[in-house]
Amino acid sequence: MDRSEWEAVVGLEVHAHLKTRTKMFCRCELEYGGAENTHTCPVCLAHPGALPVPNARAIEMTILLGLALECEISERAVFARKNYFYPDLPKGYQISQYEAPLCGPGRFLLPTEDGEREIGIVRAHLEEDAAKTVHAGGATGRSIGAEYSLVDFNRGGTPLLEIVSAPDLRSADEAMSFLRLLRQTIRELGISDADMEKGTLRADVNVSVRRAGEEGFRPRWEIKNMNSFRFVGRAIEAAFRQQVEAHESGEEVVQSTYDYDPDTDRLTVHRSKEEADDYRYFPEPDLVPVEPSAELVERLRGEVPESPVERIRRLSGKLGLASAAELVTTGNEWKAEALAAEGVDWKTAGAIAMNRDDFLPENAGALARIVQANVTREALDEAFAAAAVGPIDAAEYLSRTALGDEATLAPVIDAVIAAHPDQVETYRGGKEGVLGFFVGQVMRETQGKADAKLVSELVRSKLG
Ligand SMILES: [Zn+2]
Repeated sequence: MDRSEWEAVVGLEVHAHLKTRTKMFCRCELEYGGAENTHTCPVCLAHPGALPVPNARAIEMTILLGLALECEISERAVFARKNYFYPDLPKGYQISQYEAPLCGPGRFLLPTEDGEREIGIVRAHLEEDAAKTVHAGGATGRSIGAEYSLVDFNRGGTPLLEIVSAPDLRSADEAMSFLRLLRQTIRELGISDADMEKGTLRADVNVSVRRAGEEGFRPRWEIKNMNSFRFVGRAIEAAFRQQVEAHESGEEVVQSTYDYDPDTDRLTVHRSKEEADDYRYFPEPDLVPVEPSAELVERLRGEVPESPVERIRRLSGKLGLASAAELVTTGNEWKAEALAAEGVDWKTAGAIAMNRDDFLPENAGALARIVQANVTREALDEAFAAAAVGPIDAAEYLSRTALGDEATLAPVIDAVIAAHPDQVETYRGGKEGVLGFFVGQVMRETQGKADAKLVSELVRSKLG
């Protein structure tokens, strides 16, 4: 298989639990990890005659996200019933949005090494989550082989935001990068924890392949409910490999839902894809359309903060795209910005932000002075550890300066080298790891006051 002849075509459907106080259509409290079936009422248990009332804050949160993704905000969004049967869906339908979603087409500018790429956002809409089925008993603890299943209705009716991207992503890496930045955007809007481990963020992945330069799309595979970042990337890679193999050997690629097995790193067919018609969507008769006023939309527009993408754009000139993207998607760029504002050069500030624990913003100035003063490694470690828990006094660390001049260090290094001829021979025989031994000896001789980086350079040059 020649990878360069093929490209992946990937689209994502991302679901995020909204961080409202109560559920989407009733006043039951949302509590992650609460005792089972303690947050239920006639509405979310679908008792006959119980009527839904939409959560206004959930609607606002969805509009906020829509604005952050440059979406058109609908003037008249309609809730729709999506009919299907499952034990965790007591009504026999899910209230979702179908023909008239709250947020229409938008776009996401994905930073890449070749500049920004526009990823289309097809829609972002609001729906309710189903309850949670727990398979129990039996050997596997999974649905196959379980002795019985229990349903926890606490999750039933949780407001769920669904974001659908266009099939504009062209590799596993690009899809991961999009997903990370989308997650960061959602988190910074304060509308969801968007945590895959806790199930507050899930992704369905659609993958097909086509020959480079080919127009149109081939049949796609849908991988549902991915709840691990790592597996999203691996599943896309596996789907790409398997589909290219199939196309090249003339096998038919059938459009279907697939499961990814991390143990075998392969996808197997799950079940035939439901067509939209199977759900018999129709407008929800118990709810009036949502008509957000222009005033509301403008007020929410004012609440949208600078996006992660905008910050990457701003920082990548100083730090390079990869570092800027890593700092922003881990929420750490403020550390680099704080240190740089205090006069630490951007590259050092970026490296520190990536490798050091959090520090309190108020300590940025003191830390900047300590970083620039060539203090010992030990003093630096202590300063950063202290800076994470309370205010620090720079003077306490500044006196512990490292020996950073070659004239003082050279005789110590010479003595250490002369005292260890065996290790010198080992090093010259190709075992470069012995370098650490010499650096350690010099640090011991200088009571840890030598500049370890300079020692390392000097030892290397002396050993030739
Ligand atoms: Zn309820």
